[in-house]
Amino acid sequence: MSDCIFCKIANGEIPSDFVYEDENIAAFRDVNPQAPAHILVIPKKHYASAAEVTDASVWSSLMSSAVKIARKLGLEENGYRMVINTGEQGGQTVPHLHLHMLAGRNLGWPPG
Ligand code: 5GP
Ligand code: ZN
Repeated sequence: MSDCIFCKIANGEIPSDFVYEDENIAAFRDVNPQAPAHILVIPKKHYASAAEVTDASVWSSLMSSAVKIARKLGLEENGYRMVINTGEQGGQTVPHLHLHMLAGRNLGWPPG
């Protein structure tokens, strides 16, 4: 997707603060952090949302990478939250599948 901002981040066209990268996954700091640690974990391949994923290996690589990143950044001890906003009422604003990893403060529940 040539006009997708997260595709451009994944392929290096837009510089970003990367915390992890492998063949299938990229992870970088959110530009507008909602917690002291706020990382976006994405598949490099473009899926407009979670609802578009049909290949279970996408979930496998996304979730296992997110957990690895949390461990690497030392977020395990105090805990973290993983969120995937999906569609309009789900609060999704960027149409490229991404997992939010939030940590570093007490996170409220239920979400707004
Ligand atoms: P959503 O609202 O779709 O669940 O999350 C999109 C997230 O992407 C937001 O938290 C927003 O701050 C972040 N974001 C939007 N544009 C950029 C960007 O160019 N760079 C980075 N690092 N984050 C972005
Ligand atoms: Zn994309």
